[in-house]
Amino acid sequence: MSHALISLARAMVFVLALAAAAGCAKKDADESAAPQAAAAAAPAELAFKNGAIYTVDGPRRWADAVAIRGGHIVFVGTDLDLEKHIGPDTRVVDLKGRMLLPGFQDAHVHPISAGTEAVSCDLNGLQTAEQYVAKIKEYSDAHPQAEWITGGGWLMSAFGPGARARRELIDAVVPDRPVVLSSTDGHTTWVNSKALEIAGITKDTPDPPDGRIDRDPRTGEAVGSLQEGAGSLVRDKVPPSTPEQLQAGLRYAIKYLNALGITGIQDASVDEPDLKTYQTLDQAGELTLHVVGSIWWERDQGLEQIDTIKRLSTTYTKGQVDARTVKIMQDGVIENYTAVVLEPYKLPGKAPSYGIPMVDPEKLKTVVTTLDADGFQVHFHAIGDGAIRQALDAVEAARVANGDRGHRHHISHLEVIQPVDVSRFRTLGVVANFQPLWAYADPYITDLTLPFMGKERAQWIYPIESLVRSGAVVAFGSDWSVSSPNPLEQIEVAITRMGAAGETTTPFLPAERITLPEALAAFTINAAYVNRDEVDTGSIEVGKLADLAVLDRNLFDIAPTEISDAKVLLTLFEGKVVHGDLSSL
Ligand SMILES: [Zn+2]
Repeated sequence: MSHALISLARAMVFVLALAAAAGCAKKDADESAAPQAAAAAAPAELAFKNGAIYTVDGPRRWADAVAIRGGHIVFVGTDLDLEKHIGPDTRVVDLKGRMLLPGFQDAHVHPISAGTEAVSCDLNGLQTAEQYVAKIKEYSDAHPQAEWITGGGWLMSAFGPGARARRELIDAVVPDRPVVLSSTDGHTTWVNSKALEIAGITKDTPDPPDGRIDRDPRTGEAVGSLQEGAGSLVRDKVPPSTPEQLQAGLRYAIKYLNALGITGIQDASVDEPDLKTYQTLDQAGELTLHVVGSIWWERDQGLEQIDTIKRLSTTYTKGQVDARTVKIMQDGVIENYTAVVLEPYKLPGKAPSYGIPMVDPEKLKTVVTTLDADGFQVHFHAIGDGAIRQALDAVEAARVANGDRGHRHHISHLEVIQPVDVSRFRTLGVVANFQPLWAYADPYITDLTLPFMGKERAQWIYPIESLVRSGAVVAFGSDWSVSSPNPLEQIEVAITRMGAAGETTTPFLPAERITLPEALAAFTINAAYVNRDEVDTGSIEVGKLADLAVLDRNLFDIAPTEISDAKVLLTLFEGKVVHGDLSSL
């Protein structure tokens, strides 16, 4: 995206704002009468002035000033009009031209597991197998009492194309205690020999239906990497995290996410201990995030689990927590050939493989139709074009049976979409939930994806602009701890299709770049929409909660490649400072 185009986009937004403001003048005057009368009686507690305030309201208006009282926004407008809302006790903060945005919302994130991982053996940020081994040894030496060593954050690409994470590497530094480490994308589990022994995995152990034990081609012995559901063979033996460990992980995550300007999330997979963790911190007043919890669909069970889901949903939907969503994982990932694809993977010398559907597609229709009728939103994991079509078909079946119940079902990841399926998102009301940080030519794409996809499909990878243009609602999420949860890095990639840290300098499928206003909407109002919270959050408008983020620079004034360099100086959650310091602005 060139700077000129950004300026053009901004100019268009301005013209639209003028047109909308002119058309709605009468209505605005009527609506503002009540809040202003109230404001005269009670001045704002906190006000920001002299800012570049991008409100993300319907006409995408800009403002200079915002006033807050009782956790809500009571005024948005010019510095001049702000004066009526200022009393002797109002704290007035001069933004000195800095940018103020609605708090970001992450529509697909795993805060508890990411936070727990960050406070255990954390391999995130390291790049090579040698670095991983050194870190595992360091952690093991520092935790001599731990019966199991758990953690994760390793990259499949660190082992080279086609190579697997092997147990011998860990055995060399930890031979006597089990070690279990998730890949950064969560789809592969790297274990040592002790862990395989405890799980009873031998060369005679069959692959589970939803996964694969990687084996030595000569001996048939497990090499130490377990794909998808095969990881559960070992994970089931790991003692569950204690409530204290989960709470420590969530505390870490809340602080980290708030520091990135995030005030709302959709947790992409929760079970009862997770929901309890949210509830505990919420009751203690520590949950400074609006949380939608997607209750995990157990794929080895059927409709009988809906009773449990209903119980969890009713028990835990209160305060900041909304547990009226169900997460269905429909496939794996392309890098290990478990994503469901419509044309087989190009694997010379191997039988044609179409990936592994996690739920039988016909059964999926029944499941989604039932959940839809029961009032649940469905959050799908679908990466391959086959799994995406299966998810869309299931929503279509629910539509035919139940009509439009307005649950805002959404599909996350969306790596390869057949062009004929693009328009179905809008017509079925399915939100396209992308993880834009993945949309550039990193080794996952160049080495582990493109060679197995064929030329034609290589054009359809992360087609974000196609979805925007189709009229679908596009929301963004990070999938942290798979990737950085920093929305500014993700926004940069969405508009440049290049690595945010300069990893690549050529846009990947440049026609799929989107504009800054579109990317900001995907992380604010559209994410609030998929979180069913757009009435109270997602934009800076009178009556909404004061969830706000102050940035050190105006994103519209800088080159797109600088967006990830911007810093969040201050975050407010419901009017309360949860990151930064008002007096340091
Ligand atoms: Zn995820």
